[in-house]
Parts: sequence; C-alpha cells; structure tokens
Amino acid sequence: MSNGFAGFSFLIVIDFESTCWAEKGPGCFPPEIIEFPAVLLDTQTGHILDEFHSYVLPTETPQLSEFCTQLTGVSNDLIFDELVTLDRILKAILIFKGLMIEWVVVKGFNEESTKPDGSLDVWSDSKYQVFQRITENANAAMLNFQSPLYPELGVKSFMTYLHSFLKLFTEKCKKCGYHLHNNIPPTWREFKTLEPFHEDCRP
Ligand SMILES: [Zn+2]
Repeated sequence: MSNGFAGFSFLIVIDFESTCWAEKGPGCFPPEIIEFPAVLLDTQTGHILDEFHSYVLPTETPQLSEFCTQLTGVSNDLIFDELVTLDRILKAILIFKGLMIEWVVVKGFNEESTKPDGSLDVWSDSKYQVFQRITENANAAMLNFQSPLYPELGVKSFMTYLHSFLKLFTEKCKKCGYHLHNNIPPTWREFKTLEPFHEDCRP
C-alpha cells in the first residue's frame, strides 16, 4: 500500500452507480443511484476485511438504458425486468482514526481520487457543488453521531445517514416540496429522521 495512508488503519471505500444515458437530451432524467457497494480496507495489509453490496431500484426511470448496461456490465435482471444503464457514481471516502471516523470526502464518480504519484488523495474537495455540500454535511453528521464510548455505534449511525443519500437525485425537500433549489437537490438530512432538506430549507 502507498504511504498516503499513513496514520489511518482502515478505510471504507464506497462507489455508488446510477442511471445514465449516452447523450444528453429530452430523454434524460436526473441520475438515480442503482448500485451501492462498499469495502472495508485494512491499510496495513491492503486486504479487504469486509464488503457490502446492494442494488437499488430507481423510482423515476426504472427502465435502464442499453448504454448504461453496456457501460457498467450490470444486468438489469439483477434489479428488475427491464434493461438498465449506469453512469454517474458518487464516491465517499471515510477516514478512520482507530474505530472513529475522522473525516469524510464525497466526490463525483469521474473525479480523480488519486494523486499523480498514485497515492490516495483523501483531502481535496469535489469540484461539484452538490458533493461539496454533502461532504460538509456528512462531516457535521459524523460529529453528531460520534460516540466515544461506543464508536461502532457512531459508525453504524453514520452509515445509515450516508445510506439516506441513495435517493439524492429523486427525493424532494420536506419543506418546499421541490427536488431542485438553485439547481441543487436536497443535500441536508435531518439527523434524527434523515428527512431531506435543501440548505435554505433546513428546519
Ligand atoms: Zn427546499
């Protein structure tokens, strides 16, 4: 493993995949997450200690595009009857110190997560506003859920929080009732209920 991991014993790497289309146009919709995989990495050995994987049924456009299926190799049969395509991916890197999450970075799928020397770039921000907001909010959530006496409980709560972003591109704001506000979907989640809100609509 590279020295870029110095000081961190474990990393959880998450790669969301979502619906996509070959060309932008009238037939395109906001991308919805359709696959949610995660691995727990031991940075000392480079071994994967645990894995989580789940397919998600997109609600707005349950029929995947052929382009998407070709691109991702994921058969729509895995999720439903029609053909599906994936293209947009969110990446979330969780940095652990001991058993506690110390920092979270969320990025778009096509964004670099390695430096030129090949080491993992865990600190730089996403260039997309939506992922910058989610990164900020995820770190606030991580601090909220942190539990020094029961660190695994904090991690579990945080993972549940992160999971609520599976509907990022479909869920409407609980206050204004709209999906987009200033062209951004609801990036805030109320900590107790995990209900979605725009930044401006936060309770
Ligand atoms: Zn709103």
